[in-house]
Amino acid sequence: MYQVDDIQLGAGSGAAALAPGGGFARAPSLRGSFGQRAEGLRDRAQRFDLVVDLGQRIGSREWLRGFVTCFGLCYAAWSLAPGFEPLPGAVPAPLPDVQFEEARTIAIAPLAYGGDTGRRMAPTDAVEPLTESPERPIIDLRATLGRGDGFANVLERAGVAAAEAAQAAQLIGAVVPVSDIRPGTVMDMTLGRRPNRMVARPLDKLAFRARFDLRVELARAGGALTLRQIPISVDDTPLRITGLVGASLYRSARAAGVPSQAVESYLRALATQLNIPSGINSDDRFDIIIAHRRAATGETETGELLYAGLTRSNGHSLQLMQWESDGRTQWFEANGIGRQTGGMTRPVPGGVTSGFGMRFHPILNYSRMHQGVDLRASYGTPIVAVADGRVEFAGWHGGHGNAVALNHGGGTETWYGHMSRILVRPGQSVHRGQEIGLVGSTGLSTGPHLHFEVHRNGIAVNPLGQAFASRAQIAGADLAAFRARLRSLLGTPIGANQREEQAGVRAGTNRNAR
Ligand SMILES: [Zn+2]
Repeated sequence: MYQVDDIQLGAGSGAAALAPGGGFARAPSLRGSFGQRAEGLRDRAQRFDLVVDLGQRIGSREWLRGFVTCFGLCYAAWSLAPGFEPLPGAVPAPLPDVQFEEARTIAIAPLAYGGDTGRRMAPTDAVEPLTESPERPIIDLRATLGRGDGFANVLERAGVAAAEAAQAAQLIGAVVPVSDIRPGTVMDMTLGRRPNRMVARPLDKLAFRARFDLRVELARAGGALTLRQIPISVDDTPLRITGLVGASLYRSARAAGVPSQAVESYLRALATQLNIPSGINSDDRFDIIIAHRRAATGETETGELLYAGLTRSNGHSLQLMQWESDGRTQWFEANGIGRQTGGMTRPVPGGVTSGFGMRFHPILNYSRMHQGVDLRASYGTPIVAVADGRVEFAGWHGGHGNAVALNHGGGTETWYGHMSRILVRPGQSVHRGQEIGLVGSTGLSTGPHLHFEVHRNGIAVNPLGQAFASRAQIAGADLAAFRARLRSLLGTPIGANQREEQAGVRAGTNRNAR
């Protein structure tokens, strides 16, 4: 017993050894079982894991317990969280009707809808009535001339007396017709001091842009209005834009800065000479010159299309310029040839002076078969190929003098005689409308004209029976003037936004001009 005590309690306390024997007889055993149980509980508590890893042993007892714990904690947190309901506060008591009306009279909000209360607020003692409000000494105004508006009307609307407005219109009209002043023109004016309120203010100053290149100023000096003209220097160098056609001619030209109207004019001009779009390739280059004015004050004005060029990578390049011929303005090629449609083109524009068939020859002095027609044309008029073909013959051909024969395929040949100059070589292919020579009087000829023959399968046929297309052509002094204008136009530098392409296009232009 004591041994047990000794072992179990050891030198626990001296008191145990002194305790009465009877009472302590069971004590060691009691203490022993209680201690063991506590020990077990402590063990279990240590093993009891409140924070179960829910990622492990899913479905096990511990996991379920951990899940319930977690859920419980979440629920507890949620149930303890404060709500988001509005906090109760004090609400002002609604005003009685009479007080509400009183408040509404002086409130700002109702004024936004107009004073609808009809309540008059009486002036207080702080208010000092004025006998007359002071007038501004001068008034600066801006007036705009509308479409269909009268110049004098604008001034009158601004407060100028009718007589003075008429006088101003007369002064301006001496320089620029007032009807020519563009709608939208903004006029700056100054109205001066008036002697009393019963009369209109005098016009002290009026300034506006009367024309693109002219600014006018009316100013009162010594009681009378005087006009001053201020010219605005204008650079009217045309705008030249070139570029690659690419996928879409329209889009490429627009991207290069050509105004849409000019692109449309350009396409219409090209359509007189070739089929659109099949006649244009993506690697062709467009060359567009547009009338353009740039004022020193910075404004620019873009005008009509002046020149339409197309440098084609394969085949004939086009250089088109507008020209008035026979009272009609139309597009002409650099060689002076205008629009042509279907069939054969006339080699020269002149009429027939001698027909096909038997006739008396003026030089040979006897009747013989005239194998073709003689067409009236002055010396040096360009002769063009009537259809696409290949040069079969080019040189001296007996009585025909300098002559060219073209083979158009399908057994059709055309002959051109009495030329002063031949512009093609044998074997060269030509396109319809291309210059092949100039009118002359070589060979057996009494004067400048074109002898023209059409052969079908080696037999001369009446050229007048063939389908000719009508076309316009510029000739003589008119052609020289046309070419001079074209040359000066082609001297236009390419626009600033085209600088990087300048070198390449210059080369192309030179090739065409040759
Ligand atoms: Zn003839």
